[in-house]
Amino acid sequence: MTATDLHPVELAPPLQLSDVTKRYDSGAGGEVVALSHVDFTVARGEVVAVVGPSGSGKSTMLNVLGLLDDPTSGRVELRGQSTTGLTEVQRTDARRESLGFVFQDFHLLPTLTAVENVRLPTAFLPGDATGRARDLLERVGLGDRLDHTPDELSGGQKQRVAIARALINEPDVLLADEPTGNLDRETGTAILEEIRRIADESAVGVVAVTHDDLVTEYADRTVELVDGVIQRE
Ligand code: ADP
Ligand code: MG
Repeated sequence: MTATDLHPVELAPPLQLSDVTKRYDSGAGGEVVALSHVDFTVARGEVVAVVGPSGSGKSTMLNVLGLLDDPTSGRVELRGQSTTGLTEVQRTDARRESLGFVFQDFHLLPTLTAVENVRLPTAFLPGDATGRARDLLERVGLGDRLDHTPDELSGGQKQRVAIARALINEPDVLLADEPTGNLDRETGTAILEEIRRIADESAVGVVAVTHDDLVTEYADRTVELVDGVIQRE
């Protein structure tokens, strides 16, 4: 009997790192240990803030969680399934099906409307996601901005579009890199309330890398990285 028989895949955590180490060449034969023996799990509906000084491995951790970068050793499991050995195509599919990404600088396409930006991740999938894109924009409070382009939207509105886009394929986990980094405090608070509501209502796990104390206030727990090592929570 395997672990999978005992724990159906649906009950597995959506995203898990086990004993993950990531080393980079630093040139001239040197090496940087960006992550060292990291164990990390995000549960459904849980918001986790990842904090730590510059260079402590936060971006590396988010890239490994997002299947954008392979660990040097250790395991990355998506819904209980190892991601080791996936082809690039399988990895892209897994990312699209299971993960949503939110960035500090929104990463919206400037020539597309809000609806078009939100449905973009469905471009190569069958069916028309326009209705779902509209619903999601309404859900994040942008029902009256559907056909606006990013230059016609405030920073907070742009981040709401980005959140709606991240949700279009019904991910298990949202990975956010400084989601409030370009927003004033009031707007940042509104965005965090939105993220919190989405986590609670849709059982989406959220991992947010941040310097912002506000994020830790809305998180269920905060993980601190120092020199690639998770400190006691
Ligand atoms: P943070 O996001 O917390 O600032 P990073 O994950 O970006 O930290 O970096 C962790 C460490 O790994 C740093 O020492 C950084 O210089 C190093 N590093 C990150 N990416 C690379 C890379 N592609 N090549 C070499 N070193 C890297
Ligand atoms: Mg970083």
